[in-house]
Amino acid sequence: MKRLIFLGPPGAGKGTQAQTLSNTYQIPHISTGEILRQAITDRTPLGQKAKGYMDRGELVPDDLILDLIKERLTQPDSKNGWVLDGFPRNLAQASFLEQLLANLNQYPDFALNLLVPDEVLIARMLERGRKDDNEDTIRRRLQVYRDDTAPVIGFYEERGILKSVNGNRSMEAVTANLQTIIES
Ligand code: ADP
Repeated sequence: MKRLIFLGPPGAGKGTQAQTLSNTYQIPHISTGEILRQAITDRTPLGQKAKGYMDRGELVPDDLILDLIKERLTQPDSKNGWVLDGFPRNLAQASFLEQLLANLNQYPDFALNLLVPDEVLIARMLERGRKDDNEDTIRRRLQVYRDDTAPVIGFYEERGILKSVNGNRSMEAVTANLQTIIES
């Protein structure tokens, strides 16, 4: 049973590592970005509301995300642990999550922070070529990360569960480092 939160800038490799750990520990991988992209594909009301923000590289408003995460974490499969990827992305989301988890009597084991230099992030995102991976949007997402998301690192540091890992290495090297931490 593991409860893991991934932190780090866009392009840091959160999604890849979260998926690997999800397989290893047999726990759901909960990616708010993936849920939103699926909602856009399915043309749901959530997707229609979220699309403009995502295309611009802005955060989707909290009221859309908080309902979504509450719904997901109260599903039966989330009882056995989870790995969160892309949430929380600002301090309001971090406080909401803390309250929600306390109500569920669940406590995160680690907040795993992937460290990658900006120029590597930009190169990776341009290579990935997702719809929201053009130069203007990338620049905006990095700015939003610095302004809104980076403070979440301090939130988990204060709670004593922050672990920072060098994400500028091979996928396998990062995975091995994460597993060592999680199993310590
Ligand atoms: P990346 O890590 O490359 O930014 P994500 O898939 O995590 O990719 O997120 C893509 C987009 O989805 C974000 O730019 C944002 O618009 C939206 N999004 C995802 N998670 C959240 C969240 N927790 N709060 C607000 N917006 C979010």
